[in-house]
Formats: sequence, C-alpha cells, structure tokens
Amino acid sequence: MDLQPPILPGATIGVLGSGQLGRMFALAARELGYRIHIYSPDNDTPAGQIGDREYACSYDDLAKLREFARHVNVVTFEFENVPSASTSAVAEFAPVRPDGRVLHITQNRLREKTFLEGHGFPVTPFRRVATLEELQQAARELGLPAVLKTADFGYDGKGQTKLTAPEQLPTAWQSLRGAEGIFEAFVSFEKEISVVGARTIRGEFAAFPVFENAHANHILDVTFAPAAIEPALAREAIALASGILHQLDVVGLLTVEMFVTTTGKLLVNELAPRTHNSGHLTIDACATSQFEQQVRAVCGLPLGLTEMRHPAAAMANLLGHLWAGGEPRWPAALQDPALKLHLYGKAQPREGRKMGHLTTTGASPEDCVARVRAARERLILP
Ligand code: AMP
Repeated sequence: MDLQPPILPGATIGVLGSGQLGRMFALAARELGYRIHIYSPDNDTPAGQIGDREYACSYDDLAKLREFARHVNVVTFEFENVPSASTSAVAEFAPVRPDGRVLHITQNRLREKTFLEGHGFPVTPFRRVATLEELQQAARELGLPAVLKTADFGYDGKGQTKLTAPEQLPTAWQSLRGAEGIFEAFVSFEKEISVVGARTIRGEFAAFPVFENAHANHILDVTFAPAAIEPALAREAIALASGILHQLDVVGLLTVEMFVTTTGKLLVNELAPRTHNSGHLTIDACATSQFEQQVRAVCGLPLGLTEMRHPAAAMANLLGHLWAGGEPRWPAALQDPALKLHLYGKAQPREGRKMGHLTTTGASPEDCVARVRAARERLILP
C-alpha cells in the first residue's frame, strides 16, 4: 500500500462542523502545534472561536468547500451529516478522514445496520419500511414492542416512536411523513455503553475504557468509566469496536454505542464516525484525550495511551435549562476542588442545548457520579 506520510505539527487541519466536538478538537490540535480551519454554516461558533479561520458557508456551496480544502492538509469532521457531494468536493484537494464511504454508511441507520449485520456484528433484528403495509408486515414478523425510526439521522432531532400495539402503526407511519423508516425489535437492555476507538492509516487501533451512559429525555445525561460490567464483557465490547473500525477501514475515530441486554449480550445500536459526548471525560481522566487521539489518528501520528490516570471518572452534561434562572452559580459547583468545568462558548442557552459539562475523577464510579450530579445541582440552588 502507498502510505501517505504523516501530517506534521505546523500543518493545517480542516474541520467540517463547528460545535463543541470541533472546539475541543481544535484546542487539542493547537496544543500539538497545528493550525485549524473550521467550516460550517454559522459564525462565532464554539469551534470557530478557537480556530485560526472560520468559514461561515453552506455545506452545499461546493466552490467554497473547495477553497476551504485547498488551504488545509487534511480534513476531519465533528458533524457527520454533511452531504456526500460536499465531502467528495473536499476530497479533491485534501484527504478526508474518516473517508466519504464511512460517512455514507453511518449517515443512515438502514445502511449502518445492514453493514453491521452483513459483517456478523450483533444488532437487534430490523426491517426497512417504506409503506404502511411494510410496517405491518415487519410488526408481524418481528413482533411488538418495537421502535420505529427514520432511516436518515438528523431529521428534526430524533424521529423515533416506540410501538407497543398494532393499532399504533398507522399513526406511527404518518409521523414519518413519507420518509424511509427502520423498524427495530425492541431491546430489553440493562444498560447502555459506548466504546470510542481510534485507528490509523497503518491499521493501528486503540480504544478508551468502556463508558457507561445514562440518558434523560433521549439526551446523554451522565457518563462514567469504567463501565460497571464484567472485564470479559468489556474486552468483548472493545473487540467488537476494533472489528467494526477495521471492517469500515476507518482512519480517525469511531464511536460504537451498544446495549448490554438483560441476558448479558452486546448489541450494537449506533455508530458515530467521530469523537463522542460520552468520551468527554477522557480530557481529565485519560493519558490522552479523545480529541488528541483524533488529531493523532487523522494526521498519521502514533496513537496515544488511552488508559485512565485515576480509578474512575464521571461526566455530567450541562444543558440550556440550567440557565433558565440566570447565569448558573459556577463557584458553587467548583467548591469541590476535583471538579473540572468545560463550557463551549455558546451564547444562547436554549432548552436541551449542550452548553458544557462537568467532570471529576476519583476512587469509584459511584463516588464520581454522585459528585458530578451534586455539583450540577449546586449550579441552580436558590
Ligand atoms: P438512537 O437514536 O438509535 O441512539 O436511540 C436513542 C435511544 O433510544 C437509545 O439510547 C435507547 O435508549 C433507545 N433505543 C433505541 N433503539 C432501541 C431499541 N431497538 N430497543 C430499545 N430501546 C431503543
């Protein structure tokens, strides 16, 4: 194979997308001495505030995308729902890592689950549904309860309905508004975990410890590490992630979200071809952060150590509602000197918007979770 030489510090990395993942990536890249150009439709963004240059242009503006690509040495992304034509235009001038094929597969739940199933990775049984009749047929074949989702991500946030009775099918079908759907057998799960894996162009692989995730209103709420699962299951989760990154030929990072079922099996729920909210605790807890790892992986540098520097860590997301009564009480949260505060530079604290996070490290996951939750509560105490 004709391997490309590493992209060395001093070079410029382009990022498609400009949210908090891009911001923390840009901070890590700057520490390593790289320059950063950010491309998204917005201005004064979390990532743009850190970058050397910010393009506020549409993802459909192929001429601007080509100009952006001409001025960088490699392109990665923090927002994967970029149109294929856009990544192709960028790829004319700079390598895109992970590449357009990985993006294409992971942009659509049907393509993603079909890929996973086709390569022997465990997923819940699913069917493509393009008509009400197909939905009814899927319900007969796979049974209820089930979950109906839009095949494309990024459609109006979520686009998910839990189905428990056949009478619900016509209404659920209408809620898709003609979009292609995926019908998934309901997974009875004990917990949700994630593995953030990195892979270089030479095929080297490294994963962070397994994270355990708790959601509130379908948004990640708290993550802790290491996940409270048997070491053998943790090894299996990391082996699954390694297999998926290799099969997809990922150069960069990819996160695998999984269920641990009530019978103790792993099922892959979703892939994200990038860093992940559940990996934010790596900044304060691991020898290398997920963002530094992304820099190393996309630039062709050796990967960094992923092990934890402390026995345990936890992260709590800070969403917009915490600002409802005015500016949160930051000093109150930071009374615990082990707490680390990360804010993303967003001016508008909208309901449900990820504004920042709190991390702590400590002796046990239970202790760390209790401390990040307590600190978050102190933010809004009267
Ligand atoms: P997703 O958008 O696919 O990540 O799903 C969001 C959340 O919905 C997951 O984190 C699960 O808590 C739940 N969920 C998704 N798919 C299923 C399923 N097939 N069975 C049970 N719960 C699910």
